[in-house]
Amino acid sequence: MVNHTSAAHPLSAYGWDEDRAAEFTYFAEAGLTPARISRVDRGRCDLLVADEETGGLRTVRADTRPVGDPDPVKCPCTGDWAAVDLAAQPLPTVTALLSRGTAVVRKTAGGRSDGQVLAANVDTVMIAVSLAADPDLGRIERFLALAWESGAEPLVVLTKGDLVDDGDFIRADVEKIAPGVTVLVVSAETGEGIDVLRACLHGATALVGQSGAGKSTLTNALAGHRAMAVQETRSVDEKGRHTTTTRELIPLPDGGVVIDTPGLREVGLYGGEGVDMAFADIAALAEACRFDDCSHRSEPGCAVAAALEDGTLPQRRMESYLKLQRENDWIASRSDARVAAERLKKWKTITKSMRGANNPTRHDPVRR
Ligand code: GDP
Ligand code: ZN
Repeated sequence: MVNHTSAAHPLSAYGWDEDRAAEFTYFAEAGLTPARISRVDRGRCDLLVADEETGGLRTVRADTRPVGDPDPVKCPCTGDWAAVDLAAQPLPTVTALLSRGTAVVRKTAGGRSDGQVLAANVDTVMIAVSLAADPDLGRIERFLALAWESGAEPLVVLTKGDLVDDGDFIRADVEKIAPGVTVLVVSAETGEGIDVLRACLHGATALVGQSGAGKSTLTNALAGHRAMAVQETRSVDEKGRHTTTTRELIPLPDGGVVIDTPGLREVGLYGGEGVDMAFADIAALAEACRFDDCSHRSEPGCAVAAALEDGTLPQRRMESYLKLQRENDWIASRSDARVAAERLKKWKTITKSMRGANNPTRHDPVRR
C-alpha cells in the first residue's frame, strides 16, 4: 500500500508534496487515489498514479465527466492534481480536483469571451521565441502578461540561437521589455544555453509560444535522449484497445516536468493584473504622476507623458500597454455581462416557481 502522505511517494517526481498530501487527506479517507493529469481530451484524460506493483508510476485513462463544469476554466487540464476512483467501472473516474496553485489561462480563439486553461500548477511559464526572424516585441509582451497573470514566474527563451550572430544584442532588447524576467539565448542544435536553462527550471514548467518556435525540439533537448520514449505512453482505453498517446507532461532527468502546450497563433488575454505586472516600468512611472487617477493622456504633471517625451519610454511600448489593457477591460465587461445574465436566469426560475406556488393549479396535489 502506497502511503500518500509520504515524501517518498512516486508522484513526488511530478511535484507531489506535503501541502498536496495534506489537502488530499480527506479524499484518501474516502478511498480515492491521488493523480496528476498528463493529458485531457473530451470527457477523458490520462493521469499518472502510483503503481502498487512496481513502486513507480503508471498511466491510467479516466472519465472526467463528474468534474466537468459549464465554465471551461474550471474543467480539468494538464497539470491538475486529481482525486481518482480507480475501482469505478467501466473506467476509473476523476471525482475531484485539488485547488490550483497557478493556472495559465488564455481567452479562447475567436470572438467568444471564454477562458481556456493551458496548464495548471506550474512554477515557471517558459515563453519560447524563435530567433529565426526578428522577435515581435508586442507578442512577447502579450505572452508575458499571460505568464504573470498565471501566478507563476515568467522566463523568456530565445530559441535557434545558432541562426544568428547577434543573439546577445537581441537578448538585451528583449530584456528591456521584460522587467524582472530572465531572458536566455539557447540552441537545441548546438546545445548552447541548454545547461543554463536547465539550471533555471524547477518544479513544473509550462512551455508556451507560437507554433514553429522550437518548443518540441527544446523539450526533447531538456528531456535528453529518452524524450521520445517518455513522451509516448501506452495505455488501454475503455474498449480494451492499446493506444499510443503523446504525453503533454514530460519528466526531466534532473527532476521537474515540462508541460508542452499546443502552438498558439492567437493569445487573447483573460483579464487580471498580468498586464500591469508585465509593464511594471510604466506602473512605476505612474507613481510619480501628479494625479492618482492619471490616464496618462493629457493631464498636467504626467510622468508617463514626460517619459514618452524624452524617449525613456518608447511610444511602441506605451501603445502595446494600452492595447492589452483595453483587451482586459473588454474581457472584464464580458464576464460582468455573463454574471448578470446568470443572475437574470436564476431570478426568472425563482419567479416562475413562485408563480407556481401562488397559483392553485392542477399541479397542486393537495387542492385537487
Ligand atoms: P514547435 O512547433 O514550437 O514545437 O517547433 P519545433 O520544435 O517543431 O521546431 C520548428 C522547426 O525549427 C523545426 O524544423 C526544427 O528543426 C527547427 N528548430 C528547432 N530548434 C532549433 C534550433 O535550435 N536551431 C535550428 N537551426 N533549428 C531549430
Ligand atoms: Zn500620468
